[in-house]
Amino acid sequence: MTDGYGRKIEYLRMSVTDGCNLRCRYCMPPDGMAECPCRTAMSADEFVEIARAAAGLGMKKLRITGGEPLVRSDIIPLVRALGAIDGIEDMSLTTNATLLAPCAEELYNAGIRRINISLDTLVPEKYERITRGGRLADALCGIHAALDAGMSPVKLNTVLIGGFNDDEIESLAELTLRYPVQLRFIELMPIGNTGDFPATAYLPDSVVLERLPQLAPVPSEKHTVARLFRLPDAKGEVGLISPLSNHFCAECNRLRLTADGCLKPCLHSAEELPVRGLHGEELKRAILTAASHKPEKHGALSATERSEAQRSMYRIGG
Ligand code: SAM
Ligand code: SF4
Repeated sequence: MTDGYGRKIEYLRMSVTDGCNLRCRYCMPPDGMAECPCRTAMSADEFVEIARAAAGLGMKKLRITGGEPLVRSDIIPLVRALGAIDGIEDMSLTTNATLLAPCAEELYNAGIRRINISLDTLVPEKYERITRGGRLADALCGIHAALDAGMSPVKLNTVLIGGFNDDEIESLAELTLRYPVQLRFIELMPIGNTGDFPATAYLPDSVVLERLPQLAPVPSEKHTVARLFRLPDAKGEVGLISPLSNHFCAECNRLRLTADGCLKPCLHSAEELPVRGLHGEELKRAILTAASHKPEKHGALSATERSEAQRSMYRIGG
């Protein structure tokens, strides 16, 4: 499946629920979800049908995200069923990891080998503040459980927020000295109705390179959105993801599926194509249409230029 700009579309990111046990300040409004997620989310069978149709059109990579995917009680059978689809070569999960420890091994056995875990701070009080109530110890337990289960790569996603965690750039990056993880600093995105951050919160990730001049570039994987670096003698890598200062639209090979069954051709555009309830050829046509509607690039993003997406991140999946 190719879009109108010659990009091969091979990567489907599925948000399997809008529900979440945390309320991160850059992702979700303070009063949480507008509607009960169990009323709006598609069933496991609906996700599998859409993923199967997408795989039939050439999708090879699946990422399961949310909301928090691990709040779904049927997450293990859902992962297993998605992994069994012909043509899916790579399946990964994005999670806050606070619920991961008891099920990491089961998820591994169900087919999750690659995992991205959100971790914005190493200070328990700050973790509680940014997630509005989460416990850092739970997330750290989840990270250890992922490593112990044999998941690889384990990528840690840190949203870089000026005035909140820019004083922890060194300590977060130093996790890569001790653990074989990829710690990725992601620029804060002005998206959804979570816009109460001051302009100073939107830091370009070049501050990471200024703060850590010893970072040496290493070759990046194809289609990855992160530029990769390594600290001397590190077991892992430091990644920089720059949706504001250096967008990666030319490399974009993805479609996004929301929990309520809409395909988003671009994270930052308002366009959504409902596919819930479509079957067979009609479903395939809708997926092809979504791919053909991918814009060449998204509009500018900055402290004053907001994403055109009409959803907050917990309803898209990142
Ligand atoms: N609950 C899971 C988690 O937190 O990893 C998966 C869903 S979450 C929406 C996916 C990713 O989006 C997380 O890494 C989160 O940090 C990131 N994210 C959410 N809002 C963001 C924003 N405004 N700017 C940058 N990244 C954001
Ligand atoms: Fe939940 Fe993830 Fe959003 Fe935080 S970033 S509120 S953990 S969906």
